[in-house]
Amino acid sequence: MPDFLSPDLVSLRDKAAKLADDLRKILSDSASDSDSFPRVRDASKAAGVYELTSKSSTSALAMLVVRETLASRGVGHLAGIFAPDPGFLSGAQEPVRASHLVPVLDGRKRWGLGITEPAGVTRPTSARVDGQQLVINGTKSYVTGGQQADFVVALVEVEGKGPSMVIIDTNLPGVSISRRFSSIDGSAHAAFLFQDVRVPLHNALGKPGQGRSSALVRISQVRLAVASEAVGSCIYILDVVGEFLSRARKGGARAQSERIRMRYGHLRALTYAARATVYRSARLVDSGQDAVNEIIAAKLVATEVAGEVVDTAIQLVGGEALVVGHPLEETMRRLRTLRLAEGETDTLRVNLARGHFDLKKGRL
Ligand SMILES: Cc1cc2nc3c(=O)[nH]c(=O)nc-3n(C[C@H](O)[C@H](O)[C@H](O)COP(=O)(O)OP(=O)(O)OC[C@H]3O[C@@H](n4cnc5c(N)ncnc54)[C@H](O)[C@@H]3O)c2cc1C
Repeated sequence: MPDFLSPDLVSLRDKAAKLADDLRKILSDSASDSDSFPRVRDASKAAGVYELTSKSSTSALAMLVVRETLASRGVGHLAGIFAPDPGFLSGAQEPVRASHLVPVLDGRKRWGLGITEPAGVTRPTSARVDGQQLVINGTKSYVTGGQQADFVVALVEVEGKGPSMVIIDTNLPGVSISRRFSSIDGSAHAAFLFQDVRVPLHNALGKPGQGRSSALVRISQVRLAVASEAVGSCIYILDVVGEFLSRARKGGARAQSERIRMRYGHLRALTYAARATVYRSARLVDSGQDAVNEIIAAKLVATEVAGEVVDTAIQLVGGEALVVGHPLEETMRRLRTLRLAEGETDTLRVNLARGHFDLKKGRL
């Protein structure tokens, strides 16, 4: 194992494993996600896992250990495991703290992230300053949770000041949902149209013009979470397929075949490499070093590896693995989205090259 965990982290990992067992029981006797949500949340609170994401003292490595352990048991994706995520609002000052941050933390308000825009837009979402207000026009095409969101935190080009993350309440005049849709992982999204939407100047979070860099810090945290989920899922898949290949059958278990062993061994090697990459990146974050490029590498390696692992696992198991409800079918749909969400793979590759050539950043 490339983990070298401290005794505290080993005990946290064991706690997460115990929680995962409880969550699997909840999942098996719940009719729907909305049915399981309060029970998942209560079980996570009882296990002391729920609050981890909202404590600034939680290390990147601790979050990796917990997320990976939950995903390795097939429950990492369940809604309600972690406290509501303040995202870009963390550290917000008054009046935004009272109007948006606190209601998010206590579960009264929900929000979505608006970065992606439709292909071919001639002008990105932008705002002009009018007295103490911003007047916003534009579109955001892929806001997860947007259909229920009380507000969107959107990347907006503020005239004369540059990109900023701006809070846009969804009940304001000029805000409309132009499309409601869901993706193969079952998550729901909305596309938004903003037409002369007026928000107070203080809805622009952080310093104007620093929207992209604050987005980068936040996106790095989310990318590490995605990478943790991906490597945990690899372990889950290897367990599922390993158990299938070991099953006794007439003529001997499939795992006796050298051809099968070669393919299974390859998946283990890929998983080992991806885990080592993700663990190294989390340790870099915890040592206080700039790890933006390393997290990019970890996210793209972990999600691409997970894609290959689940695809080959399905091939090894055969058609049964594609029957709706099979653990590999469900995992494949979820993992497929991770190669696009939070940074699409080719874009990340180009970003890594830019880090090296233009910014002299990024370790090997
Ligand atoms: C499940 C899911 C949830 C999502 N949630 C959100 C959300 O909450 N908020 C949000 O803002 N977005 C969200 N997205 C959108 C996601 O971030 C985008 O799909 C992703 O960034 C790719 O952008 P795009 O779809 O516009 O494709 P494009 O950017 O057009 O990319 C399509 C292809 O073009 C090529 N390409 C494009 N740009 C480059 C480049 N710079 N370098 C190299 N190749 C390039 C690549 O081959 C790429 O695969 C979500 C997506 C999914 C699948």
